[in-house]
Amino acid sequence: MDRYGSAFLDLDLDPPHIHLTTPWFQIAPEDILRLTVREIPHPTSFHPDFCSFDFFPRSIGGGDIYVEASLSMFKELGFIETYRLRRRTLARFLLMVQKGYRDVPYHNWSHAFAVSHFCFMLLKMPAVQHALNELERLSLLVACLCHDIDHRGTTNSFQLQSKTPLAQLYSSEGSVLERHHFAQTVSILSMEECNIFEQLTRKQYQTVLDHMREIILATDIAAHLRKVHKISAMVEEGYDRENTDHHYLFMCLLMTASDLSDQTKPFKYAKVIAENIYREFFSQGDLEKQMGNRPIEMMDREKACVPKMQLEFMDTVAVPVFDMLSRLLPDLRGTYHTMMNTRERWATMKDVVTEEGLPTGGLEYLRSTHLEEKVERRIEEQRSCAEMVR
Ligand SMILES: [Zn+2]
Repeated sequence: MDRYGSAFLDLDLDPPHIHLTTPWFQIAPEDILRLTVREIPHPTSFHPDFCSFDFFPRSIGGGDIYVEASLSMFKELGFIETYRLRRRTLARFLLMVQKGYRDVPYHNWSHAFAVSHFCFMLLKMPAVQHALNELERLSLLVACLCHDIDHRGTTNSFQLQSKTPLAQLYSSEGSVLERHHFAQTVSILSMEECNIFEQLTRKQYQTVLDHMREIILATDIAAHLRKVHKISAMVEEGYDRENTDHHYLFMCLLMTASDLSDQTKPFKYAKVIAENIYREFFSQGDLEKQMGNRPIEMMDREKACVPKMQLEFMDTVAVPVFDMLSRLLPDLRGTYHTMMNTRERWATMKDVVTEEGLPTGGLEYLRSTHLEEKVERRIEEQRSCAEMVR
């Protein structure tokens, strides 16, 4: 068992957290004070490049700063004013959401914040503001913050295979984890002190919950793949604001893109994130081995070749998502190109490690500057060859 294996062994054997029994006063009064006493800072006060799609949001600090920045995003998008969101309630809500995330390598609070940051950038775009109504936009931001609450660092198939308590609750409906994330969200909102939607009419409240349910369920990649042809048809037809199906499909696409937005960051960041993702996958693989099962290649630290896996994931899921998105929102072409640059580096790294027979077990080699230099050199060579052919 290596240094990553042991810490996550009991993750899925726990019963679901029941937030209803968690009293809100477990939130430290000084945290609420910190978030309510000052004027809400502008997003760029966290970093001058905060309002850029290329920005790596995790770089602004840790969990508490992410809560402050989330507050700032609510204000910048005008939600605090439009929906008369009470500052203390919003602060308690955000702190409860933060607490709802577990300390797993990838599906943690920093992932939720990074996803919400990308969504925030999308919601600032005039084209998105025109395409969706304000309740839909509010639902998207809140859904992003909550979409992985209480994730255990294991997949839906693991829940089913191991017959976890969550699988017993939700297996008949599919998307086991996503149903749990939504249920946890509702539990937090049902605490009076955390109900940021208290000023909404009954009808608006129901609408927001319906949207959030759909959006959070859309984060199951299996669900995305089942309806990707419908999203693609919408892109071909062109977005029609009068078409309610288009509203639903567009919200799902924005959510999926935000959830996968790490793939669009420059390679040095994408590598850091890949390491976190595979630390989580390999922990699951270790657990499966201990249970006497054989993990799939992606989860097996002895078999998985990360550059190869990343390339496959990008080609089958992420690239088509951002291709469709940038056709609907042409301002995202730059983001798409950054992603394709990152893809090129994964592809080249896969070639280099395969040709040179370099060991790809574990994750250490991803940090090798020697390997990185080789990759960059290879890309340079390929570019000059292409130039010469032209
Ligand atoms: Zn996620």
